[in-house]
Amino acid sequence: MQSIDITDSGLVRGHLFINGQWQSADSGATFDVLNPATGTVLMPVADGGGADAVRAVEAASAAFADWRQQTATERAILLKRWHALVVAAREDLARLMTLEQGKPLAEARAEVDYGSAFIEWFAEEARRVDGEIVPAHLPNRKILVQKYPVGVVAAITPWNFPIAMATRKAAAALAAGCTFVLKPAEDTPLCALALAELSHRAGLPRGVFNVVVGRDPAPIGAVLTTHEAVRKVTFTGSTAVGKRLMAQCADTVKRTSMELGGNAPFIIFEDADLDAALAAAMVCKFRNAGQTCVCANRILVHTDVFDAFAQRLVAAAETLRLGNGLEAGVTMGPMIHPRAVERVDQIVRESLAAGAELLLGGQATGEGRFYTPTVLTHIARDQRAFTDEIFGPVAPLIRFSSEQEAIRIANDTRFGLAAYCFTQDLGRTFRSIDGLQFGMVGINEGMLSTAVAPFGGVKESGIGREGSSHGIDEYLDLKYALIGGLGEG
Ligand code: ADP
Repeated sequence: MQSIDITDSGLVRGHLFINGQWQSADSGATFDVLNPATGTVLMPVADGGGADAVRAVEAASAAFADWRQQTATERAILLKRWHALVVAAREDLARLMTLEQGKPLAEARAEVDYGSAFIEWFAEEARRVDGEIVPAHLPNRKILVQKYPVGVVAAITPWNFPIAMATRKAAAALAAGCTFVLKPAEDTPLCALALAELSHRAGLPRGVFNVVVGRDPAPIGAVLTTHEAVRKVTFTGSTAVGKRLMAQCADTVKRTSMELGGNAPFIIFEDADLDAALAAAMVCKFRNAGQTCVCANRILVHTDVFDAFAQRLVAAAETLRLGNGLEAGVTMGPMIHPRAVERVDQIVRESLAAGAELLLGGQATGEGRFYTPTVLTHIARDQRAFTDEIFGPVAPLIRFSSEQEAIRIANDTRFGLAAYCFTQDLGRTFRSIDGLQFGMVGINEGMLSTAVAPFGGVKESGIGREGSSHGIDEYLDLKYALIGGLGEG
Protein backbone atom coordinates (compact mmCIF):
# COMPACT_ATOMS: atom_id res chain seq x y z
CA MET A 1 0.00 0.00 0.00
CA GLN A 2 1.26 3.47 -0.90
CA SER A 3 1.31 6.02 1.92
CA ILE A 4 -0.68 9.18 1.33
CA ASP A 5 1.77 11.93 2.03
CA ILE A 6 -0.17 15.10 2.82
CA THR A 7 0.18 17.64 5.63
CA ASP A 8 -3.25 17.28 7.20
CA SER A 9 -3.78 13.54 7.61
CA GLY A 10 -7.28 14.23 8.99
CA LEU A 11 -8.38 14.84 5.40
CA VAL A 12 -7.69 11.24 4.46
CA ARG A 13 -10.95 9.43 5.19
CA GLY A 14 -12.00 5.89 4.38
CA HIS A 15 -15.57 5.81 5.71
CA LEU A 16 -18.95 6.96 4.50
CA PHE A 17 -20.05 10.36 5.81
CA ILE A 18 -23.67 10.10 6.91
CA ASN A 19 -25.51 12.39 9.31
CA GLY A 20 -22.29 14.12 10.38
CA GLN A 21 -20.59 10.82 11.30
CA TRP A 22 -17.97 8.61 9.70
CA GLN A 23 -19.61 5.25 9.22
CA SER A 24 -18.64 1.80 7.94
CA ALA A 25 -20.69 0.29 5.16
CA ASP A 26 -23.68 -1.75 6.25
CA SER A 27 -22.00 -4.81 4.72
CA GLY A 28 -18.76 -4.12 6.60
CA ALA A 29 -16.92 -4.45 3.29
CA THR A 30 -14.25 -2.17 1.85
CA PHE A 31 -12.76 -1.70 -1.60
CA ASP A 32 -9.33 -0.45 -2.68
CA VAL A 33 -8.69 2.96 -4.18
CA LEU A 34 -5.79 2.80 -6.66
CA ASN A 35 -3.20 5.23 -7.93
CA PRO A 36 -3.78 5.21 -11.71
CA ALA A 37 -0.15 6.14 -12.41
CA THR A 38 1.20 3.00 -10.75
CA GLY A 39 -1.71 0.67 -10.09
CA THR A 40 -0.74 0.51 -6.40
CA VAL A 41 -3.36 0.54 -3.68
CA LEU A 42 -3.72 3.93 -1.95
CA MET A 43 -6.10 2.77 0.76
CA PRO A 44 -9.30 0.84 1.38
CA VAL A 45 -12.59 2.74 1.54
CA ALA A 46 -15.96 1.59 2.90
CA ASP A 47 -17.88 -0.21 0.16
CA GLY A 48 -21.32 1.36 0.50
CA GLY A 49 -24.48 -0.08 -0.99
CA GLY A 50 -28.23 0.41 -1.12
CA ALA A 51 -28.79 0.27 2.65
CA ASP A 52 -26.16 2.95 3.20
CA ALA A 53 -27.73 5.13 0.53
CA VAL A 54 -31.09 4.81 2.30
CA ARG A 55 -29.51 5.91 5.60
CA ALA A 56 -27.92 8.91 3.87
CA VAL A 57 -31.19 9.93 2.22
CA GLU A 58 -33.04 9.62 5.53
CA ALA A 59 -30.40 11.75 7.27
CA ALA A 60 -30.65 14.38 4.53
CA SER A 61 -34.41 14.28 4.72
CA ALA A 62 -34.41 14.78 8.50
CA ALA A 63 -31.91 17.64 8.22
CA PHE A 64 -33.93 19.43 5.54
CA ALA A 65 -36.58 20.82 7.89
CA ASP A 66 -34.04 22.89 9.84
CA TRP A 67 -31.67 23.72 7.00
CA ARG A 68 -34.38 25.25 4.83
CA GLN A 69 -35.49 27.43 7.75
CA GLN A 70 -32.06 28.94 8.28
CA THR A 71 -31.76 32.40 6.83
CA ALA A 72 -29.88 32.72 3.58
CA THR A 73 -27.26 34.71 5.50
CA GLU A 74 -26.70 31.86 7.95
CA ARG A 75 -26.29 29.39 5.10
CA ALA A 76 -23.96 31.82 3.30
CA ILE A 77 -21.75 32.15 6.38
CA LEU A 78 -21.34 28.37 6.67
CA LEU A 79 -20.60 28.03 2.96
CA LYS A 80 -17.99 30.78 3.18
CA ARG A 81 -16.33 28.95 6.06
CA TRP A 82 -16.31 25.77 4.00
CA HIS A 83 -14.82 27.72 1.10
CA ALA A 84 -12.07 29.16 3.29
CA LEU A 85 -11.14 25.69 4.57
CA VAL A 86 -11.01 24.25 1.05
CA VAL A 87 -8.78 27.12 -0.07
CA ALA A 88 -6.50 26.61 2.94
CA ALA A 89 -6.26 22.89 2.16
CA ARG A 90 -5.43 23.56 -1.52
CA GLU A 91 -2.09 21.79 -1.58
CA ASP A 92 -3.29 18.71 0.32
CA LEU A 93 -6.43 18.40 -1.81
CA ALA A 94 -4.37 18.77 -4.98
CA ARG A 95 -1.97 16.01 -3.92
CA LEU A 96 -4.83 13.73 -2.95
CA MET A 97 -6.40 14.37 -6.33
CA THR A 98 -3.22 13.61 -8.27
CA LEU A 99 -2.78 10.42 -6.26
CA GLU A 100 -6.23 9.02 -6.95
CA GLN A 101 -6.98 10.63 -10.32
CA GLY A 102 -3.60 10.99 -11.99
CA LYS A 103 -3.68 14.55 -13.36
CA PRO A 104 -0.46 16.59 -12.99
CA LEU A 105 -0.23 18.53 -9.75
CA ALA A 106 -0.50 21.91 -11.51
CA GLU A 107 -3.83 20.82 -13.01
CA ALA A 108 -4.99 19.48 -9.65
CA ARG A 109 -4.22 22.81 -7.99
CA ALA A 110 -6.14 24.60 -10.75
CA GLU A 111 -9.08 22.31 -10.13
CA VAL A 112 -9.09 23.08 -6.41
CA ASP A 113 -9.21 26.78 -7.31
CA TYR A 114 -11.98 26.20 -9.84
CA GLY A 115 -13.92 23.89 -7.52
CA SER A 116 -13.66 26.16 -4.49
CA ALA A 117 -14.85 29.13 -6.58
CA PHE A 118 -18.28 27.47 -6.82
CA ILE A 119 -18.59 27.37 -3.04
CA GLU A 120 -17.77 31.07 -2.80
CA TRP A 121 -20.02 31.97 -5.72
CA PHE A 122 -23.06 30.14 -4.34
CA ALA A 123 -22.42 31.43 -0.81
CA GLU A 124 -22.95 34.84 -2.40
CA GLU A 125 -25.91 33.73 -4.53
CA ALA A 126 -27.69 32.27 -1.48
CA ARG A 127 -28.79 35.78 -0.57
CA ARG A 128 -30.12 36.64 -4.01
CA VAL A 129 -32.97 34.15 -4.28
CA ASP A 130 -35.52 36.87 -4.94
CA GLY A 131 -39.19 36.42 -5.72
CA GLU A 132 -41.54 38.48 -7.85
CA ILE A 133 -44.78 40.37 -7.52
CA VAL A 134 -46.60 40.13 -10.83
CA PRO A 135 -49.39 42.56 -11.91
CA ALA A 136 -52.55 40.50 -11.35
CA HIS A 137 -54.97 39.45 -14.08
CA LEU A 138 -58.00 40.56 -11.99
CA PRO A 139 -58.66 43.59 -9.79
CA ASN A 140 -57.97 43.56 -6.04
CA ARG A 141 -55.59 40.65 -6.22
CA LYS A 142 -51.89 40.19 -5.72
CA ILE A 143 -49.73 37.57 -7.37
CA LEU A 144 -46.62 36.46 -5.47
CA VAL A 145 -43.96 34.21 -6.97
CA GLN A 146 -41.51 32.73 -4.46
CA LYS A 147 -38.69 30.21 -4.73
CA TYR A 148 -38.37 27.24 -2.36
CA PRO A 149 -35.65 24.61 -2.06
CA VAL A 150 -36.68 21.41 -3.89
CA GLY A 151 -35.74 19.18 -0.91
CA VAL A 152 -33.22 16.36 -0.74
CA VAL A 153 -30.80 16.40 -3.68
CA ALA A 154 -28.81 13.37 -4.80
CA ALA A 155 -25.67 13.94 -6.86
CA ILE A 156 -23.67 11.41 -8.85
CA THR A 157 -20.30 12.70 -10.01
CA PRO A 158 -17.47 11.45 -12.25
CA TRP A 159 -13.76 10.86 -11.63
CA ASN A 160 -12.31 13.38 -14.10
CA PHE A 161 -12.88 16.42 -11.86
CA PRO A 162 -13.33 14.87 -8.41
CA ILE A 163 -13.64 18.17 -6.52
CA ALA A 164 -15.16 20.64 -8.96
CA MET A 165 -18.00 18.37 -10.12
CA ALA A 166 -19.00 17.87 -6.49
CA THR A 167 -18.77 21.50 -5.36
CA ARG A 168 -20.61 22.98 -8.29
CA LYS A 169 -23.60 20.84 -7.44
CA ALA A 170 -23.34 20.82 -3.64
CA ALA A 171 -22.71 24.52 -3.13
CA ALA A 172 -25.68 25.49 -5.30
CA ALA A 173 -28.00 23.01 -3.61
CA LEU A 174 -26.94 23.93 -0.08
CA ALA A 175 -27.19 27.66 -0.83
CA ALA A 176 -30.75 27.10 -2.04
CA GLY A 177 -31.64 25.39 1.24
CA CYS A 178 -31.53 21.79 0.02
CA THR A 179 -29.75 18.96 1.78
CA PHE A 180 -27.44 16.72 -0.16
CA VAL A 181 -26.28 13.16 -0.74
CA LEU A 182 -23.19 12.81 -2.90
CA LYS A 183 -22.13 9.61 -4.61
CA PRO A 184 -18.68 10.25 -6.05
CA ALA A 185 -17.09 7.98 -8.63
CA GLU A 186 -15.67 4.77 -7.21
CA ASP A 187 -12.28 5.61 -8.78
CA THR A 188 -11.92 8.90 -6.88
CA PRO A 189 -13.78 8.87 -3.55
CA LEU A 190 -10.95 10.39 -1.48
CA CYS A 191 -11.42 13.98 -2.67
CA ALA A 192 -15.15 13.82 -1.93
CA LEU A 193 -14.50 12.43 1.55
CA ALA A 194 -11.94 15.19 2.20
CA LEU A 195 -14.58 17.73 1.16
CA ALA A 196 -16.95 16.12 3.67
CA GLU A 197 -14.35 16.42 6.42
CA LEU A 198 -13.93 20.12 5.61
CA SER A 199 -17.71 20.65 5.55
CA HIS A 200 -17.84 19.13 9.02
CA ARG A 201 -15.07 21.41 10.28
CA ALA A 202 -16.90 24.38 8.74
CA GLY A 203 -19.88 23.57 10.96
CA LEU A 204 -22.42 22.40 8.39
CA PRO A 205 -25.20 20.79 10.46
CA ARG A 206 -25.53 17.00 10.63
CA GLY A 207 -27.19 15.44 7.62
CA VAL A 208 -26.88 18.50 5.38
CA PHE A 209 -23.99 17.07 3.34
CA ASN A 210 -23.57 13.29 3.11
CA VAL A 211 -21.22 11.12 1.05
CA VAL A 212 -21.90 7.51 0.10
CA VAL A 213 -19.54 5.60 -2.14
CA GLY A 214 -19.27 1.97 -3.21
CA ARG A 215 -17.38 -0.15 -5.70
CA ASP A 216 -20.62 -0.88 -7.55
CA PRO A 217 -22.56 2.33 -8.32
CA ALA A 218 -25.77 0.60 -9.41
CA PRO A 219 -27.37 -0.25 -6.01
CA ILE A 220 -26.59 3.21 -4.62
CA GLY A 221 -27.86 4.80 -7.82
CA ALA A 222 -31.04 2.73 -7.65
CA VAL A 223 -31.86 4.16 -4.21
CA LEU A 224 -30.96 7.73 -5.12
CA THR A 225 -33.13 7.67 -8.24
CA THR A 226 -36.17 5.94 -6.72
CA HIS A 227 -36.38 6.96 -3.05
CA GLU A 228 -39.42 9.17 -2.56
CA ALA A 229 -37.58 11.62 -0.31
CA VAL A 230 -35.11 12.52 -3.06
CA ARG A 231 -36.63 15.32 -5.11
CA LYS A 232 -33.79 16.08 -7.45
CA VAL A 233 -31.01 14.07 -9.08
CA THR A 234 -28.06 15.89 -10.54
CA PHE A 235 -25.59 13.87 -12.57
CA THR A 236 -22.35 14.43 -14.44
CA GLY A 237 -21.03 11.51 -16.45
CA SER A 238 -21.55 9.54 -19.61
CA THR A 239 -24.63 9.95 -21.79
CA ALA A 240 -25.44 6.24 -21.49
CA VAL A 241 -25.55 6.28 -17.69
CA GLY A 242 -27.35 9.64 -17.66
CA LYS A 243 -30.13 8.24 -19.85
CA ARG A 244 -30.51 5.27 -17.54
CA LEU A 245 -30.69 7.49 -14.45
CA MET A 246 -33.28 9.74 -16.11
CA ALA A 247 -35.41 6.69 -16.83
CA GLN A 248 -35.06 5.51 -13.23
CA CYS A 249 -36.14 8.97 -12.00
CA ALA A 250 -39.30 8.92 -14.10
CA ASP A 251 -41.32 6.78 -11.73
CA THR A 252 -41.19 9.30 -8.90
CA VAL A 253 -41.06 12.30 -11.29
CA LYS A 254 -37.85 13.74 -9.90
CA ARG A 255 -36.30 16.83 -11.31
CA THR A 256 -33.02 16.05 -13.04
CA SER A 257 -29.95 17.93 -14.23
CA MET A 258 -27.72 16.03 -16.62
CA GLU A 259 -24.24 17.08 -17.64
CA LEU A 260 -23.42 14.38 -20.17
CA GLY A 261 -20.93 13.66 -22.89
CA GLY A 262 -19.62 16.11 -25.47
CA ASN A 263 -18.09 15.93 -28.91
CA ALA A 264 -16.63 19.40 -29.14
CA PRO A 265 -15.66 20.80 -32.53
CA PHE A 266 -12.58 23.04 -32.43
CA ILE A 267 -12.72 25.11 -35.62
CA ILE A 268 -9.69 26.93 -36.97
CA PHE A 269 -10.66 29.30 -39.77
CA GLU A 270 -8.15 30.53 -42.35
CA ASP A 271 -8.00 33.98 -40.70
CA ALA A 272 -7.24 32.59 -37.21
CA ASP A 273 -4.25 33.60 -35.13
CA LEU A 274 -2.51 30.23 -35.43
CA ASP A 275 -0.30 30.78 -32.37
CA ALA A 276 -3.36 31.38 -30.21
CA ALA A 277 -5.23 28.46 -31.82
CA LEU A 278 -2.32 26.10 -31.22
CA ALA A 279 -1.87 27.10 -27.57
CA ALA A 280 -5.61 26.72 -26.95
CA ALA A 281 -5.80 23.40 -28.81
CA MET A 282 -3.02 21.94 -26.69
CA VAL A 283 -4.83 22.77 -23.46
CA CYS A 284 -8.29 21.97 -24.80
CA LYS A 285 -7.21 18.58 -26.17
CA PHE A 286 -4.53 17.27 -23.82
CA ARG A 287 -5.50 18.68 -20.39
CA ASN A 288 -6.40 15.83 -18.03
CA ALA A 289 -5.06 13.44 -20.71
CA GLY A 290 -8.05 14.35 -22.86
CA GLN A 291 -10.52 13.14 -20.26
CA THR A 292 -12.87 16.10 -20.05
CA CYS A 293 -16.35 16.47 -21.48
CA VAL A 294 -15.48 19.86 -23.03
CA CYS A 295 -12.28 18.56 -24.67
CA ALA A 296 -11.65 19.39 -28.30
CA ASN A 297 -12.89 16.16 -29.87
CA ARG A 298 -12.80 17.03 -33.56
CA ILE A 299 -10.30 19.63 -34.72
CA LEU A 300 -11.61 21.21 -37.93
CA VAL A 301 -8.96 23.15 -39.86
CA HIS A 302 -9.40 25.25 -43.00
CA THR A 303 -7.57 23.75 -45.95
CA ASP A 304 -5.38 26.87 -46.42
CA VAL A 305 -3.81 26.45 -42.97
CA PHE A 306 -4.29 22.71 -42.50
CA ASP A 307 -0.75 21.51 -43.21
CA ALA A 308 0.89 24.30 -41.22
CA PHE A 309 -1.37 23.72 -38.25
CA ALA A 310 -0.98 19.92 -38.36
CA GLN A 311 2.78 20.25 -38.36
CA ARG A 312 2.78 22.64 -35.43
CA LEU A 313 0.31 20.56 -33.43
CA VAL A 314 2.48 17.46 -33.87
CA ALA A 315 5.58 19.40 -32.79
CA ALA A 316 3.82 20.78 -29.71
CA ALA A 317 2.24 17.44 -28.73
CA GLU A 318 5.66 15.79 -28.97
CA THR A 319 6.89 18.01 -26.14
CA LEU A 320 4.30 16.73 -23.64
CA ARG A 321 5.94 14.74 -20.85
CA LEU A 322 4.05 11.71 -19.64
CA GLY A 323 4.46 10.45 -16.11
CA ASN A 324 3.37 10.41 -12.52
CA GLY A 325 1.56 13.71 -11.93
CA LEU A 326 3.37 14.30 -8.65
CA GLU A 327 6.72 14.57 -10.45
CA ALA A 328 7.96 18.01 -11.47
CA GLY A 329 7.91 18.59 -15.22
CA VAL A 330 5.21 16.04 -15.98
CA THR A 331 2.56 17.61 -18.23
CA MET A 332 0.31 14.60 -18.89
CA GLY A 333 -0.65 11.92 -16.43
CA PRO A 334 -2.05 8.42 -16.85
CA MET A 335 -5.56 7.63 -17.99
CA ILE A 336 -7.99 6.69 -15.24
CA HIS A 337 -7.49 2.94 -15.74
CA PRO A 338 -6.08 0.49 -18.28
CA ARG A 339 -9.61 -0.17 -19.63
CA ALA A 340 -9.78 3.48 -20.69
CA VAL A 341 -6.42 3.13 -22.47
CA GLU A 342 -7.65 0.04 -24.32
CA ARG A 343 -10.83 1.80 -25.41
CA VAL A 344 -8.97 4.80 -26.79
CA ASP A 345 -6.45 2.58 -28.54
CA GLN A 346 -9.28 0.68 -30.16
CA ILE A 347 -10.82 3.93 -31.47
CA VAL A 348 -7.45 4.82 -33.01
CA ARG A 349 -6.97 1.33 -34.54
CA GLU A 350 -10.47 1.42 -36.05
CA SER A 351 -9.80 4.80 -37.66
CA LEU A 352 -6.48 3.63 -39.06
CA ALA A 353 -8.12 0.52 -40.49
CA ALA A 354 -10.70 2.78 -42.16
CA GLY A 355 -7.99 4.86 -43.86
CA ALA A 356 -6.93 7.49 -41.31
CA GLU A 357 -3.30 8.58 -41.21
CA LEU A 358 -1.32 8.62 -37.99
CA LEU A 359 0.79 11.77 -37.62
CA LEU A 360 1.88 11.13 -34.03
CA GLY A 361 1.53 8.68 -31.16
CA GLY A 362 -1.07 5.94 -31.18
CA GLN A 363 0.47 3.84 -28.47
CA ALA A 364 -0.29 2.57 -25.02
CA THR A 365 2.69 2.87 -22.73
CA GLY A 366 3.70 2.66 -19.06
CA GLU A 367 2.25 -0.84 -18.49
CA GLY A 368 -0.87 0.18 -20.37
CA ARG A 369 -1.74 3.03 -17.99
CA PHE A 370 -0.76 5.88 -20.32
CA TYR A 371 -1.59 6.75 -23.90
CA THR A 372 0.83 8.76 -26.00
CA PRO A 373 -0.40 12.11 -27.40
CA THR A 374 -1.86 11.21 -30.75
CA VAL A 375 -2.67 13.18 -33.91
CA LEU A 376 -4.73 11.63 -36.71
CA THR A 377 -5.90 12.90 -40.06
CA HIS A 378 -8.16 11.67 -42.90
CA ILE A 379 -10.87 10.61 -40.45
CA ALA A 380 -13.99 9.08 -41.98
CA ARG A 381 -17.22 10.61 -40.65
CA ASP A 382 -18.63 7.24 -39.59
CA GLN A 383 -15.65 6.45 -37.35
CA ARG A 384 -15.86 6.63 -33.57
CA ALA A 385 -13.03 9.20 -33.65
CA PHE A 386 -15.63 11.48 -35.27
CA THR A 387 -18.94 10.29 -33.84
CA ASP A 388 -18.04 9.50 -30.20
CA GLU A 389 -16.52 11.30 -27.27
CA ILE A 390 -12.91 10.03 -27.45
CA PHE A 391 -12.07 10.87 -23.81
CA GLY A 392 -8.36 10.47 -24.37
CA PRO A 393 -5.32 12.32 -25.77
CA VAL A 394 -6.21 11.80 -29.42
CA ALA A 395 -6.60 14.75 -31.79
CA PRO A 396 -8.41 13.95 -35.06
CA LEU A 397 -7.83 16.66 -37.67
CA ILE A 398 -10.55 17.28 -40.25
CA ARG A 399 -10.12 19.49 -43.31
CA PHE A 400 -12.80 21.97 -44.50
CA SER A 401 -12.93 24.64 -47.15
CA SER A 402 -15.81 27.00 -46.27
CA GLU A 403 -17.44 28.49 -43.21
CA GLN A 404 -20.78 26.81 -43.99
CA GLU A 405 -19.09 23.46 -44.35
CA ALA A 406 -17.29 23.87 -41.01
CA ILE A 407 -20.50 24.69 -39.15
CA ARG A 408 -22.29 21.80 -40.86
CA ILE A 409 -19.57 19.32 -39.87
CA ALA A 410 -19.45 20.75 -36.33
CA ASN A 411 -23.20 20.27 -35.86
CA ASP A 412 -23.14 16.74 -37.30
CA THR A 413 -23.33 15.08 -33.88
CA ARG A 414 -25.96 14.06 -31.36
CA PHE A 415 -23.97 15.94 -28.71
CA GLY A 416 -24.07 19.67 -27.99
CA LEU A 417 -21.89 20.68 -25.07
CA ALA A 418 -18.93 22.91 -26.01
CA ALA A 419 -17.64 24.27 -29.32
CA TYR A 420 -14.61 26.43 -30.11
CA CYS A 421 -13.82 28.75 -33.03
CA PHE A 422 -10.69 30.62 -33.95
CA THR A 423 -11.21 33.63 -36.19
CA GLN A 424 -10.39 37.33 -36.30
CA ASP A 425 -13.53 38.20 -38.23
CA LEU A 426 -16.34 39.81 -36.27
CA GLY A 427 -19.11 38.76 -38.63
CA ARG A 428 -17.88 35.17 -38.65
CA THR A 429 -17.69 35.25 -34.85
CA PHE A 430 -21.37 36.06 -34.52
CA ARG A 431 -22.45 33.72 -37.32
CA SER A 432 -20.56 30.92 -35.60
CA ILE A 433 -22.08 31.63 -32.18
CA ASP A 434 -25.55 31.64 -33.77
CA GLY A 435 -24.98 28.62 -35.99
CA LEU A 436 -23.32 26.20 -33.58
CA GLN A 437 -25.83 23.94 -31.82
CA PHE A 438 -23.96 23.80 -28.54
CA GLY A 439 -24.57 25.09 -25.00
CA MET A 440 -21.20 26.84 -24.80
CA VAL A 441 -19.05 28.48 -27.45
CA GLY A 442 -15.45 29.67 -27.02
CA ILE A 443 -14.25 32.24 -29.55
CA ASN A 444 -10.45 32.43 -29.59
CA GLU A 445 -10.57 30.65 -26.22
CA GLY A 446 -9.95 27.00 -25.40
CA MET A 447 -11.10 27.01 -21.77
CA LEU A 448 -14.69 27.93 -21.01
CA SER A 449 -15.31 26.71 -17.49
CA THR A 450 -15.86 29.29 -14.76
CA ALA A 451 -18.14 29.57 -11.75
CA VAL A 452 -19.65 32.80 -13.11
CA ALA A 453 -21.03 31.44 -16.43
CA PRO A 454 -23.73 28.82 -17.06
CA PHE A 455 -22.15 25.45 -17.92
CA GLY A 456 -24.28 22.92 -19.74
CA GLY A 457 -25.28 21.38 -23.02
CA VAL A 458 -28.08 20.85 -25.54
CA LYS A 459 -29.16 17.73 -27.46
CA GLU A 460 -27.81 14.53 -25.86
CA SER A 461 -25.24 16.48 -23.85
CA GLY A 462 -27.84 17.08 -21.20
CA ILE A 463 -30.27 19.41 -19.50
CA GLY A 464 -29.77 22.06 -16.85
CA ARG A 465 -27.00 24.54 -16.14
CA GLU A 466 -24.36 24.70 -13.43
CA GLY A 467 -22.64 27.80 -12.10
CA SER A 468 -23.67 31.43 -12.70
CA SER A 469 -26.81 33.03 -11.35
CA HIS A 470 -28.78 30.33 -13.18
CA GLY A 471 -27.13 27.42 -11.36
CA ILE A 472 -29.08 27.85 -8.16
CA ASP A 473 -32.42 27.65 -10.01
CA GLU A 474 -31.77 23.94 -10.57
CA TYR A 475 -32.42 23.47 -6.84
CA LEU A 476 -35.42 25.78 -6.44
CA ASP A 477 -39.11 25.25 -7.13
CA LEU A 478 -41.33 28.18 -8.04
CA LYS A 479 -44.49 28.61 -6.02
CA TYR A 480 -47.09 31.13 -7.07
CA ALA A 481 -49.69 32.48 -4.66
CA LEU A 482 -52.80 34.39 -5.77
CA ILE A 483 -54.06 36.55 -2.94
CA GLY A 484 -57.63 37.72 -3.34
CA GLY A 485 -60.25 39.24 -1.07
CA LEU A 486 -58.25 42.43 -0.74
CA GLY A 487 -61.35 44.62 -1.06
CA GLU A 488 -61.92 47.86 -2.93
CA GLY A 489 -60.24 50.11 -0.30
P1 ADP B 1 -17.34 7.55 -17.03
O1 ADP B 1 -17.51 6.84 -18.33
O2 ADP B 1 -16.79 8.91 -17.14
O3 ADP B 1 -16.74 6.72 -15.93
P2 ADP B 1 -19.90 7.08 -15.92
O4 ADP B 1 -21.14 7.68 -16.44
O5 ADP B 1 -19.71 5.62 -16.01
O6 ADP B 1 -18.76 7.91 -16.61
O7 ADP B 1 -19.66 7.47 -14.39
C1 ADP B 1 -20.07 8.70 -13.83
C2 ADP B 1 -20.67 8.43 -12.50
O8 ADP B 1 -21.82 7.61 -12.68
C3 ADP B 1 -19.78 7.70 -11.51
O9 ADP B 1 -20.00 8.21 -10.21
C4 ADP B 1 -20.28 6.28 -11.61
O10 ADP B 1 -20.07 5.54 -10.42
C5 ADP B 1 -21.75 6.52 -11.80
N1 ADP B 1 -22.51 5.40 -12.35
C6 ADP B 1 -22.15 4.55 -13.33
N2 ADP B 1 -23.11 3.63 -13.53
C7 ADP B 1 -24.12 3.91 -12.66
C8 ADP B 1 -25.39 3.33 -12.35
N3 ADP B 1 -25.85 2.27 -13.02
N4 ADP B 1 -26.13 3.91 -11.39
C9 ADP B 1 -25.69 4.99 -10.73
N5 ADP B 1 -24.51 5.58 -10.95
C10 ADP B 1 -23.72 5.06 -11.91
